[in-house]
Amino acid sequence: MTTIAQRLQDVQARITRACLAAGRPVDAVALLAVSKTQPAEAVHEAWSAGQQAFGENYIQEGVDKISALAALRGAGPGAVVWHCIGPIQSNKTRQVAEQFDWVHSLDRLKIAQRLSEQRPDHLPPLQVCLQVNVDGGANKSGVPPEEAPALAQAVATLPRLCLRGLMSIPEPAPTFEAQKSVHDKAKQLFDHIRGQLGPQAQHFDTLSLGMSDDLEAAVHAGSTLVRIGTAIFGARPRPQPA
Ligand SMILES: *Cc1c(COP(=O)(O)O)cnc(C)c1O
Repeated sequence: MTTIAQRLQDVQARITRACLAAGRPVDAVALLAVSKTQPAEAVHEAWSAGQQAFGENYIQEGVDKISALAALRGAGPGAVVWHCIGPIQSNKTRQVAEQFDWVHSLDRLKIAQRLSEQRPDHLPPLQVCLQVNVDGGANKSGVPPEEAPALAQAVATLPRLCLRGLMSIPEPAPTFEAQKSVHDKAKQLFDHIRGQLGPQAQHFDTLSLGMSDDLEAAVHAGSTLVRIGTAIFGARPRPQPA
């Protein structure tokens, strides 16, 4: 029988092996468990096994799970941390600003401004990454790479956001080398922007790259956070809503 706890261990072992193979410290890469479409019970099971950070794509589903699991948020040093990794429409920014700890999918200044305005004062700044469309995939979210430095500069000035880094979701690629070459572009852009940020660069430490099928290539390219769903929770139980 394969439990969530067992799969979490397997994923952690993959991360450790990839770090060693890439000559990086074994604690250089954090694990975000992507719990979209999974029930709150599955999140609870993973949390009981030691997993703290969870990623949700669909705002309403995420908010429902956050409130169902509210007790895990007050759990002191082991408290759950919620990351929004899906597209954010203007009419959802308030829920995101009020409920989530992190956003990976920021790709427009207008959304960033709303999130900053709507972030409640009693909470720490919202931790944000810019989503970059590194491989130029059609119909994809993400700021084009050439526009990312200017967006980063603008977001870094918003008072209730803390700009933490970049995120990308490349098209699936068949080989390690092909996967790594796309992730390398995200890493280069990350280094370029960090070099431009001046004093703000001290917080710019997160490169959110890699999913179940390209974790190793992402770690080799310099990812600091991998977003893993299927390899932890198994196949998703229902089709993703459009
Ligand atoms: C679903 C999803 C993941 C996890 O994908 P798996 O292949 O199941 O590991 C990671 N990041 C984003 C943005 C996703 O939507």
